[in-house]
Amino acid sequence: NKGVTLKRHVVGFPTEDDMELVTATVRLTVPPGSAAVMVKNLYLSCDPYMRSRMTRHEEPSYVPDFVPGEVLTAFGVSKVLESGHSGYKAGDLVWGIIGCEEYTLVTNPESLFKISHPEFPLSYYTGVLGMPGLTAYAGFFDVAKPKKGEYVFVSAASGAVGQLVGQLAKITGCYVVGSAGSDEKVNLLKTKFGFDDAFNYKKEKDLNAALKRCFPEGIDIYFENVGGAMLDAVLLNMRLHGRVSMCGLISQYNLEQPEGVRNLFCIVTKRIRVEGFMVTEYFGTYSKFEEEMAGYLKEGKITYVEDVAEGIENVPAALIGIFYGRNIGKQLVAVAQE
Ligand code: NDP
Repeated sequence: NKGVTLKRHVVGFPTEDDMELVTATVRLTVPPGSAAVMVKNLYLSCDPYMRSRMTRHEEPSYVPDFVPGEVLTAFGVSKVLESGHSGYKAGDLVWGIIGCEEYTLVTNPESLFKISHPEFPLSYYTGVLGMPGLTAYAGFFDVAKPKKGEYVFVSAASGAVGQLVGQLAKITGCYVVGSAGSDEKVNLLKTKFGFDDAFNYKKEKDLNAALKRCFPEGIDIYFENVGGAMLDAVLLNMRLHGRVSMCGLISQYNLEQPEGVRNLFCIVTKRIRVEGFMVTEYFGTYSKFEEEMAGYLKEGKITYVEDVAEGIENVPAALIGIFYGRNIGKQLVAVAQE
């Protein structure tokens, strides 16, 4: 059973060398009397929150720190080989938290979700039909509460979450602009995902001016994925009673000293609602989300771009790549065929 472990806790930007490919011998069976399930892992998801788990925190974090020497865990898609749990049987397709390895004994199978739409590529359950999809859906509809005609801005807009927020905003009848870190990604936003406009934030000398150009009348909703200088510039361009859905701050995750936000007073003067959320709080609503998103996919109203690395040995490179913007679309690793 090949798997990926963390060699040591990370400070600053992670490198491939912080992780290690290890091989262990495992029995592909469930121990007698146990309610665990043994799964074969098909796809592993590379997600930004995993960076936080690589840090050693003094105070408990929102997700547990990875333990050096232990196989990393991640969201993924798996096939049940054997089940000691009455809710699962051999052959079931599931997604949820598994090990970054070829086979995992899942000791808390209640945390897994059954896959109801195997007619889609199963990899979609690491993205549009999985955790990032629910993040986009909940963070946009429940937190930002969009209305038709509103002006929406999305950062990290071509990524796993961002590409969906933009498309959901278009379905809602909003005007949507995205930022991304390369011309290729900007092109994707405009031609594939239907954003009304987009810009490459790395090429803009002045983010405030770029936002003023794209939103002469200001921004009603900011779907925040990056933080830092972008958040500062957005605050200057928010409209009265605007909303900021605080999804993530990826520009800060590798910094030893997070940057400050200078324009906070705009929140007061413009009466902006800034609200954070955690997708885990919405897991109870997953089935409803899955049906709605599956409907959009079938109708062709939502399209999804993935960046697929092949083989468990490529987990470290794929995971690190998202912090350098190497991924185009949702980053995942294909581990095995069904
Ligand atoms: P992506 O697929 O968007 O991958 C990360 C992208 O972030 C990169 O491709 C890169 O795109 C961009 N990025 C990396 N470093 C920087 C930087 N320094 N400044 C600006 N952009 C950067 O990831 P996801 O869609 O999975 O996640 C997007 C955000 O959503 C993250 O902040 C994540 O933590 C958050 N999240 C929050 C959840 C919640 O429950 N609140 C759940 C899931 C995700 P580019 O080339 O455009 O720079």
